This record gives sequence, structure tokens and C-alpha cells, in this order.
Amino acid sequence: MTMASKSDSTRDESDDEAADSTEPESALETARRQLYHAATHLDIDQNIVERLKHPKKVHEVTVPIERDDGTVEVFTGYRAQHDSVRGPYKGGLRYHPEVTRDECVGLGMWMTWKCAVMDLPFGGAKGGVAVNPKELSSAEKERLTRRFAQEIRGAIGPTVDIPAPDMGTNPQTMAWLMDAYSMQEGETIPGVVTGKPPVIGGSKGRDEAPGRSVAIIVREAIKHYEKDINEASVAIQGYGSVGSNAARLLDDWGANIVAVSDVNGGVYDTNGLDTHSIPSHHEEPEAVMGHNAPETVTNAELLELDVDVLVPAALGNVLTAENAEDVRADIIVEGANGPTTSAADRIFTERGIPVIPDILANAGGVTVSYFEWLQDINRRTWSLERVHDELEEEMLTAWDVVRDEFTDGEVTWRDAAYIVALSRIAEAHEARGLWP
Ligand code: NAD
Repeated sequence: MTMASKSDSTRDESDDEAADSTEPESALETARRQLYHAATHLDIDQNIVERLKHPKKVHEVTVPIERDDGTVEVFTGYRAQHDSVRGPYKGGLRYHPEVTRDECVGLGMWMTWKCAVMDLPFGGAKGGVAVNPKELSSAEKERLTRRFAQEIRGAIGPTVDIPAPDMGTNPQTMAWLMDAYSMQEGETIPGVVTGKPPVIGGSKGRDEAPGRSVAIIVREAIKHYEKDINEASVAIQGYGSVGSNAARLLDDWGANIVAVSDVNGGVYDTNGLDTHSIPSHHEEPEAVMGHNAPETVTNAELLELDVDVLVPAALGNVLTAENAEDVRADIIVEGANGPTTSAADRIFTERGIPVIPDILANAGGVTVSYFEWLQDINRRTWSLERVHDELEEEMLTAWDVVRDEFTDGEVTWRDAAYIVALSRIAEAHEARGLWP
């Protein structure tokens, strides 16, 4: 891989500005800063960096729906399409009151890097509707989804842009979206979205995939740092899809899961918790504290436990300048998206604590989404065993490439992952050129 010092012109002042700004930073700031930062390690055409700073297109639509009481309410929806040089756009759709244009652009950029580091033939996108889904009935959510699907219909499609579930949306949302799209096209087109229920073309193993990939990366990181998984202690913040699946797999593989938490706090046992008997967020929300364990910890305390591996798998911006000096884990593996702020990242680098980044660790979700898309296009279902085997292979391939970059260059794990991603994207742009 090309490693050369970048010309000064490639450095953008906002790189350092963003890194020093008051936390927490927005997704767009983080995504742009990470782009500049990776570019400093590469001999890459400044014009390509310039292009990657901007989304290709952002669709903003008005989504009126009839509420159950007969009134009409109007919401705003977005689909930000960042870059498609390597393939169709891919990324989630979220229903959340704080969805904004800029957030979609930033998260869309993140998806571009994530797909590239995994070498998936996709670009990055993100979208959503600024709405509180908890205030909508199921029928209202269905009307919102169908109308939103209609508004963005021209912008999506199985070879154009493929949405997936994200915050506030789920397989049912994807089923409505796929149905609305298919009805208008006059044929069933399962490949227009991923994360669907398996009965209409969803993939087996999709739900647990991000947690599974986190577990695989934790296992490989333990090996890389010459620890024994049977002796390794692991603390995991968040016991939802990512946290609980990662915890249970690592538990099955011999690791000692000493602490897990949900929004209310965590349970702690230095001898290791029985992760299968602690209900996940989806089995019973907020039930972690009800589990019988010798000790409880707050979420802040969990992040500072003396463990081999810490996995923040709940929220963004939880490892900050305030607590980074107090973190005692030997290795951090990011399960959530963006759990480490730039300031915390610098402190961990100074302290020599490796942070394996989200774009690699939790990329199992988009990878199995890719498998789902392949199954849809080929009209052929894969067994769960095949999904697991192929995910394992994809994760190990990506891990090896990032690890080689980490070992060869004097860079952090995050830089290594971004260098891999950006090189692939830049090479594709160079090969295709700029037209007209
Ligand atoms: P989830 O909703 O299934 O679970 C979230 C968990 O975090 C719950 O246990 C909840 O109680 C806990 N939590 C909420 N607020 C908390 C707080 N303030 N402190 C501590 N814990 C808190 O969510 P998920 O799907 O597991 O996603 C977790 C993270 O992983 C998010 O950052 C998400 O963006 C990221 N992620 C998810 C996927 C996916 O497909 N599920 C894929 C990649 C990345």
C-alpha cells in the first residue's frame, strides 16, 4: 500500500481545528477530520480528497402523513449519498427527532469508509426522517415509511442505493419500504433494501452480525497482543444487538466477560458473568441490573475497569478527554459507532492503548447486508452456517489487511483502517477519472 508523506497542500486547517474543538463533535466533523487525517498518510491526489469532502447528492423530501386522529403532520426526510465509485450507495435509514442533513452526510461518509475497508462493492449513504418514532402508532409508522419510500423512490434501487435499518427502524420498516417500492415498480424487488425479515428475502444471521464481527475482532486483537482468550477479561457497555451478541460469543469462546451494562448501569463479576442468562435489550429491555451478580457498576465505572479488553457498544462519544486518562483497559474495540472522541483518541495514542475502530469492528452488519443483497439478486437463500463462515472469512481478510498496515506503518489502528479504505476509494476514482 502506498505510504508517502503528503504534500502540505493536502492538510486542511479544519483537521486540527476539529480535533481541538469542544467535544462532542458532529458526525460530519468526525468524518471529515478522519478523511484529512488518513490523507496525511497517503500520497493521494488532493483533488480526490476534495471530491470526497462532499456528498454526491443529498435528497431532502417532505413526508406528509395522516395521523390516527385524522390530522395531517408533515415531516422532513433525507437521503445523503456520499460516494459510489466502488458500487451502489449503501447505508441505514433512521427515524429520530435529531436527524439532520449534515448528520446524514457525515454518517454516509462513514459508510463509504466502512464498505471500502471491508472491500464490499458499495459506496456510502445514510438517510432518515426527523421524527420521534415512539410517538407514532404502528399504522402511522407504516404510512410514514410508505410515503417516504415514494418520495425517495427515484433515488434508491438495488443497483443504485440500498437502505437498511438503523436507529428507530427495524426489519418491519424495511418490509414496508420494499413493498412500497415493489408495488410501484410492478414486480417484487427484494434487493432494494437489506435487513428485511428472512421470509421476504432477509438474510439469516443479519441481526447478530455486528456483534459477531465485534467478537471476531476482539478475539483477533487478543491474539495479536499475545494474550490468551481463556485468561482475558472483557467489559462491554451496552447489552443490545451489538453488546449482547459480542458478549455471548466471546463467553462461548472462553473469554471472561466480567462486566456488561445497559442504560441503567452494569453488573460486575471478576470470575466472569453467565452472559446467556442476562437478558439482552431485545429479550427484555433494561433487565441487566436485575441479574444476580456480586457487584454493580455505573456506566462511567465500567469504562474505567481494569480489564484486558473494553468494548463500548452502546453510544457514541462515551470515551472523552474527561475519562480517557482513567481508562485501565489494555485494548479498546469499538462496538458502537464513534464511541471515542478525537481528544480521547489522542490520549489513548499517547498512553499506548490500542483502539480498534468501529469501521472495522462492527462492519459485520453491512457485510451480512451485502450477503443479503447477493441472496436477493440470485434468488437463493444461504444457510446460517454459510453466513457465519463467509462473515468469518471477510472479517479475517479485512483484519489482516488493516493489521499489516498497522504493523508496517507507524500509525494507529484507526489510521490503518482509514488508510486501507481511502487508498481503495482513491484508486477507484483515479481509475475511473472525472467525467466530463
Ligand atoms: P440496541 O438498541 O440494540 O442496544 C443499545 C444498548 O445500549 C441497550 O442495552 C441500552 O440499554 C444501552 N444504552 C442506551 N443508552 C445507554 C447509556 N446512556 N449508557 C449505557 N448504555 C446505554 O443498539 P445496538 O443495535 O446494539 O447499537 C449499539 C451501537 O452499535 C450504536 O452505536 C449503533 O449505531 C452501533 N451499531 C449497530 C449496528 C446494528 O446493526 N445493530 C451496526 C453497527 C453499529
